[in-house]
Amino acid sequence: MPLVRMEGAAPILEDRGIRILFDAAEGDGLRCLSHAHMDHAGSPVDLNIMTGETHRIFASRKRYYRRYLESPLCVRIPLTESCSLTALNSGHMLGSSMFKLEADGLTVLYTGDMNVYDNILQRGAEQQDADVLIIEATYGSPVYKFPDREVVYYEIIKWITRTLAQGEIPALKVYSAGKAQEIVALINKTLNIPVLATPEVYSVSRVYKNTYRWMDFLKVGTREGHEAAKNGAVYVSSRRDVFRLVDKRVRWALATGWVLTRRQEGFDAYFPLSGHSDFHGLVSYVRNSDYKTVLTTYGFSSTLARHLRRLGVNAYSLEEKVQLKI
Ligand SMILES: [Zn+2]
Repeated sequence: MPLVRMEGAAPILEDRGIRILFDAAEGDGLRCLSHAHMDHAGSPVDLNIMTGETHRIFASRKRYYRRYLESPLCVRIPLTESCSLTALNSGHMLGSSMFKLEADGLTVLYTGDMNVYDNILQRGAEQQDADVLIIEATYGSPVYKFPDREVVYYEIIKWITRTLAQGEIPALKVYSAGKAQEIVALINKTLNIPVLATPEVYSVSRVYKNTYRWMDFLKVGTREGHEAAKNGAVYVSSRRDVFRLVDKRVRWALATGWVLTRRQEGFDAYFPLSGHSDFHGLVSYVRNSDYKTVLTTYGFSSTLARHLRRLGVNAYSLEEKVQLKI
């Protein structure tokens, strides 16, 4: 009978000597990497399975996986005679995937970080059936209810436009992979204004540009960027690192789901824009299929599991239950 347990920061699945590691789980085995965020990056020593986009984004962030098997979305990959694996869109960022494992009639779905809502660049995660669901719980507490994405987009555009009208440079502090490119795309699609990106945002955005050819951004510190920004620009960075650009004052905003509960000082505006599902998105994902067992992991895993049990779901937090036979 397969076992699921936490091994360090992430779960593993063990079945008759085969060890499937998810994301940053510790130990040896076949590692499934759900997306190119560093907190999910596992050891590059194992054989790593991921989408081509995830591999390229990791490389743009100077993390190289040389023993690597590409898992294009929706393509079933046989691992042994009785076990196969399929990567499926998880809606979190370019290349992000859930993994569906099928072995001896048992199906296990690991979501990685997931977003059930569509954004300007990609579709949300599609509903998938399985016997066992291992679902992330980053925002697995009822306090996290995000406004509609269109509303958040509208507020961001309004703030950018107002800041530019005041002769200042609007700057957004965001994660350099995923969120930054969503912001770049939003500005490209709605405003006729150059986007200046830090080198780390720029290199990931170049990978995005392979898929979204229309994306347009410049690297800060280059002559081209400086010239384009003279009449105004939007600055995108993962750090609040500048206070003047092209002789104009820089005004900062922060875009992350965490602004609903924690506000860092010193920002002019806060936008609850997240690459994750909120609590309600997670709960509806669980309830829209008939999973026999639901295991929660990361973030508010205990809170989400408790809430799901109250709804009659057979749910456990992997952080609480050290090991589970499925
Ligand atoms: Zn992530």
